[in-house]
Amino acid sequence: MPIYEYRCAHCRRRVDIFVQGFSPPAEPTCTKCGSKELSRIYSRFAVRRSKQDRGVYDEILSDAKLTRGLIRNDPRALAEWTRKMSRAADETITPESQELMNRLDKGEDISGVVEEMKKSYFSEESSPAAEEE
Ligand SMILES: [Zn+2]
Repeated sequence: MPIYEYRCAHCRRRVDIFVQGFSPPAEPTCTKCGSKELSRIYSRFAVRRSKQDRGVYDEILSDAKLTRGLIRNDPRALAEWTRKMSRAADETITPESQELMNRLDKGEDISGVVEEMKKSYFSEESSPAAEEE
């Protein structure tokens, strides 16, 4: 189930909104205070939460070579994977992410970042419950 993240302008909290299907909610409402003044948050490596075409993701995720590389923490595999996911989501890669990917491409060991990226992607599957802030 897709999750969309918003920042509430009223109570300033981060709100996770679960939706049916793959479109963002038409009129998102803050689950904490009921305000409708929400602005969409795109996570740093926003490759997962905003797109409709599940098939493309499945295809990328079923790329065994890429997946094995990810499991081995192969930085190049991660860079490749991130690019594919971003392309699939039709999202712009931020300069910050681009910089990281350049480092990954060179095979630089930035495993802390790798863990963070994997967590931001996989945690959604394992624990969809919104954490309280
Ligand atoms: Zn609120």
